Amino acid sequence: MAEHEHEKDHLHRLRHSVSHVMAQAVLEKFPEGKVAIGPPIEKGFYYDFELPRPLTPEDLEGIESRMREIVAEGHDFVYQEVSEDEAREIFCEQPYKLELIDGIVSAGTDEYGEPLDEAPKLSIYRSGSFVDLCRGPHVENTKEINPDAIKLLNVAGAYWRGDERRPMLQRIYGTAWESAQELEEFLAWQEEVEKRDHRRLIKDLDLLSFHEEGGAGLAYWHPLGGRIRQVIEDFWRARHREGDYEIVYTPHIGKAQLWQESGHLGFYRESMYSPMDIDGAEYFLKPMNCPFHILMYKTSLRSYRELPLRWAELGTVYRYERSGVLHGLMRVRGFTQDDAHIFCTPEQIEDEVLRVLRFSLDLLRAFGFADFHVFLSTMPEKHVGEAERWEQAQESLRKAIDVEGLPYEVDEGGGAFYGPKIDIHVKDALGRRWQLTTIQFDFNMPERFDMTYIGEDGKEHRPYMVHRALLGSLERFFGVLVEHYGGAFPVWLSPVQVVLIPIADRHVDYAYAVAEQLRAAGLWVKVDDSGERMQAKIRDAQMQKIPYMLVVGNREMDAGQVNLRRRDGEVPGAMSVDEFIALAQDAIAERCVL
Ligand SMILES: [Zn+2]
Ligand SMILES: [Zn+2]
Repeated sequence: MAEHEHEKDHLHRLRHSVSHVMAQAVLEKFPEGKVAIGPPIEKGFYYDFELPRPLTPEDLEGIESRMREIVAEGHDFVYQEVSEDEAREIFCEQPYKLELIDGIVSAGTDEYGEPLDEAPKLSIYRSGSFVDLCRGPHVENTKEINPDAIKLLNVAGAYWRGDERRPMLQRIYGTAWESAQELEEFLAWQEEVEKRDHRRLIKDLDLLSFHEEGGAGLAYWHPLGGRIRQVIEDFWRARHREGDYEIVYTPHIGKAQLWQESGHLGFYRESMYSPMDIDGAEYFLKPMNCPFHILMYKTSLRSYRELPLRWAELGTVYRYERSGVLHGLMRVRGFTQDDAHIFCTPEQIEDEVLRVLRFSLDLLRAFGFADFHVFLSTMPEKHVGEAERWEQAQESLRKAIDVEGLPYEVDEGGGAFYGPKIDIHVKDALGRRWQLTTIQFDFNMPERFDMTYIGEDGKEHRPYMVHRALLGSLERFFGVLVEHYGGAFPVWLSPVQVVLIPIADRHVDYAYAVAEQLRAAGLWVKVDDSGERMQAKIRDAQMQKIPYMLVVGNREMDAGQVNLRRRDGEVPGAMSVDEFIALAQDAIAERCVL
């Protein structure tokens, strides 16, 4: 573990150092260029520039070879603390750096708005002809960089500070490794990542679209995407019923008064859309479902005998995201959470937490995820609710993780002000981690809404409240699924499970007759009756990632059979229609990939 951390640390310094080398090469080519920020990131680095013209692929090649020369020249990375005046002098022609200096100097506060004990520190790093406002760390000398293990990847537009009202800069992405072989492996992985990019696949497979004229960050589910979503929702509902949840439905808008009471207008206003006026009152689109569930809770006097209550909703919410950060289905402005709220007594909390954790893992496993990592976030300094309640909640989370034997990390003090939480990250087929599930305690809302239940002692008590979303949102989860499977969904999730491929025109009627049987058996099926040759039809079905192809010609027609060919190239061959139906239904029931 320690060694692993150490390696990560070293790669981090290495990549940060290469980003400085790149910036030097870029500024040599464009002396009037302005530099913004250039951090190391996972598997690489980037640097943002304002340049007199858009960069071409030839530019990148030139910059990359100049970088190799700079590396070979063997420059030291030299750290120096500077005063504010010195910093302003050094970066007098670099407006973005001056703005960063303003930020560091003027903020002078920590993330809670409390003044920092010490004066903010300004530091620079020099290497070769480049100087950066930078805290480091860096390698000692450019010679530590392996010139055969660096590569510039691409240029993308990036708004300064992710703000679309600020200038659009050119961001050069690059990567750096310790060995040429690691670089090669990374490039192969990167190619696979691009192939599986959900933004491309949802278009190629005709699943979803986004429309500039309809509004950025709002997803449109086409019929085929809609089929998959329907399967996911049906499965989700069935599981929740088994898990003793109740399914509820609530409105999409609510009055300002409600959002005032819940506190959202205080601490969440920036993520909410402008109000609309209805009969002289302000209404807001809901960014969360919670206050609505609380209103329902409060429709009657609750007794401890009724608890726990588990209320789930596929609730569609709208949140403002800056247009610069929108990203396909991963970051959208309207989405459907697979939300639920659990209201229970202190005695029930331990069982409930274990139960919801297990429930979540079961659900995620059903979708083909097997590798989980949990993050537990505990009580921050600024918080609401008694420490004792926090302690109990955290213990119940910790215990549940232990019982399930999951690897986890603790983010001490990293919880929201209103309660501790756990996040579950899953590893996808390419080894990337995605945060899906969140199980979050809330000591704030029950207080704000004065929620109570009558206990065994006949007195009023405050219930515990837990928010949980297991898949997260259907939109983002779908994006993750598309990338995990590269669009080749398991049979139960495939929007077209079977394609019938008649060899010649005279087999088309038979193909339709078989298709009708399959449809009646509950399969999603289509007939490729185009005039294409059989090989072309098979290729086409493979492009569409349809799990089963059934070829029908004279022999099949005479015998009342079909000839099965699978997406992965396997050819189980001729079988009766009933045999095929049994095989497909089995794969669906078992949620097999094929
Ligand atoms: Zn730096
Ligand atoms: Zn909630």
